[in-house]
Amino acid sequence: MKILEVESLNVYYGAIHAVKNVNFFIKKGEIVSLIGANGAGKTTILKTVSGLIKPKSGEISYKGLDVLKTKPYELVNLKLAHTPEGRKIFTELTVEENLEMGAYTLTNDKMHENIKKMYDMFPRLKERKKQLAGTMSGGEQQMLAIARSLMSEPEVLLLDEPSMGLAPLLVQEIFEIIKMINKKGVTILLVEQNANQALSISDRAYVLETGEIILNGSGEELLNNSMVKKAYLGG
Ligand code: ATP
Repeated sequence: MKILEVESLNVYYGAIHAVKNVNFFIKKGEIVSLIGANGAGKTTILKTVSGLIKPKSGEISYKGLDVLKTKPYELVNLKLAHTPEGRKIFTELTVEENLEMGAYTLTNDKMHENIKKMYDMFPRLKERKKQLAGTMSGGEQQMLAIARSLMSEPEVLLLDEPSMGLAPLLVQEIFEIIKMINKKGVTILLVEQNANQALSISDRAYVLETGEIILNGSGEELLNNSMVKKAYLGG
């Protein structure tokens, strides 16, 4: 079942045509990646799907619902969550307070239940629950950003460059976490510059170049595609 479908999407910033006639879909339970170089339009697509940017034309349907006619805060209730690029956590709040901020649609009991779940999933956050988020390492902040998104119990998680700026060992850890979240039943749309890692964990992926999808296939197919190897895998 297609849980999210994007058709003929066009997004402009003034005169810049950032997303050109983009079509893609995600089936329930999948990990799907959008890969591509800097400025290819990946972030713009995620922001458009989560209602933060209005496209010039196109259709986005989420669980059969017309996203472009739905307000962003209503999308939260529809269990679609977005972890933005650059870990937009609240640096002056503690880890636990950040998690609470992710739970504004929940009852108090549910919030505490979910904070406990997040601490089970991310023991490092539990150890640091009273620490100011801004003083944590890059990897820990990324974990917190993901955990905060999961507080609202999304069915679909949009993840923007979770590995950005992390040391190789932590990159590995973040991708393991993404796989684990998916195994728990969350459908994932992943935007990454780290094509190798992203394709390795993806069921399917789309390759974007200057706003256009130029290729799509299973993660494995794309890992073995000579054009992808040359342009994105350094081979
Ligand atoms: P990166 O991996 O570097 O984040 P990206 O694939 O996510 O790149 P986008 O951030 O979606 O790419 O940008 C797509 C294009 O739109 C780029 O040419 C970018 O300069 C342009 N762009 C993005 N945001 C704006 C904005 N607010 N105003 C004008 N142009 C923008």
